[in-house]
Amino acid sequence: MSKIKDIKTTVYKWTGPVVPPQQNFCTNPTDLLKQSEDKMKSFRFHKWLVCEVIDENNLVGIGNAALAPEVTKKAIDCYLKDLVINEDCFDYEYIWEKMYRHTMAWGRKGVGMVGISAIDLGIWDLMGKIKKKPVFKLIGDRTKEKIPVYASKLYSQPLKDLQKEAEIYLNEGFKMFKMRFGWGPKDGNEGLKNNLKLVNAVREVIGYEKDLMLEAYMGWNLDYSKKIIPQLVKFKPKWLEEPVIPDDIHGYAELNSLGAIPIAGGEHEFTYYGFKQLLEMKAISYIQYDSNRVGGITAGKKINDLAEKYNVPVIPHAGQMHNYHLTMSHKNCPFSEYFPVSQVEIGNELFYYLFEGEPKPKNGFIDLSDKSPGLGISINKKYNSNFQILN
Ligand code: MG
Repeated sequence: MSKIKDIKTTVYKWTGPVVPPQQNFCTNPTDLLKQSEDKMKSFRFHKWLVCEVIDENNLVGIGNAALAPEVTKKAIDCYLKDLVINEDCFDYEYIWEKMYRHTMAWGRKGVGMVGISAIDLGIWDLMGKIKKKPVFKLIGDRTKEKIPVYASKLYSQPLKDLQKEAEIYLNEGFKMFKMRFGWGPKDGNEGLKNNLKLVNAVREVIGYEKDLMLEAYMGWNLDYSKKIIPQLVKFKPKWLEEPVIPDDIHGYAELNSLGAIPIAGGEHEFTYYGFKQLLEMKAISYIQYDSNRVGGITAGKKINDLAEKYNVPVIPHAGQMHNYHLTMSHKNCPFSEYFPVSQVEIGNELFYYLFEGEPKPKNGFIDLSDKSPGLGISINKKYNSNFQILN
């Protein structure tokens, strides 16, 4: 037993150098609207929330959230925090249900569930620290020697630059790659051809023995997807990710039923219930929840078990420690995503500047320490001066 004494939330805003935005960098859900000057605005985020769960002995569990950090902070501070204080952190299932059911009217998906996720991750980190064990050892232990990871970047850019980037990952020993599209339905046939050129350029570098995944980041619609999919088949992609918006579950199911390219998704879906529906409708062939959105470790492990019954593998979004522990502990999670470390651009990279303890890939694999308790991350002091702290 260990009583939770306090929950502390801090938003870290990146004020350091940023790679300037480029047009047609990646498709996104706002592409179908009247265009503003900065097409990529909804895509970038330069803030991250840290949620510390502090117990009666002053041990601190660290959770985090990247979606709408300031609003998530409010959800925790104003609604969730009081539900958790004075509870025993080992009652994680009860605490999760308490948060979920007390916020049922507004919290089931989106920011409410992101807040629940941040607290749940903090609770699991705390339990690991109390037990002096890594989280993966509390939820199933080691199902694989190491975790294979895929290099996930290759945003749309001039073809020569794209090929150079692919070459870097190839030379680093990665065997799986994910790239992004730059054009969507409003860009007509020329845009469609540009998309095909991007994929062709990457295949020219990595060949056809390696796995290539394609990502549309919710920027297309059903019609466009049905038009382009037959033309993408020849590039033998392992999956097509988020071709339509996450609410268009029937669109997902229709595309997946074509059987031409397996459809992947789920980084914008929430809880066991969201995935139960997707699985029942055969809407996706790969599940990609992120445990800092979907409901934390508590929800992630239930979804792993559920997806296994449907023979649908789980490849969590984003890599990052909170997801690697789930991947390591479950045989239904064969590999994981990995964002190569780079200068701050979209915001995904902030994780590396904010936290230390992330494993470095070697020849396309990462490993987790058997000895680091909890999630194995701590706040990285090195970049302190590049963050503004918003309490
Ligand atoms: Mg994605």
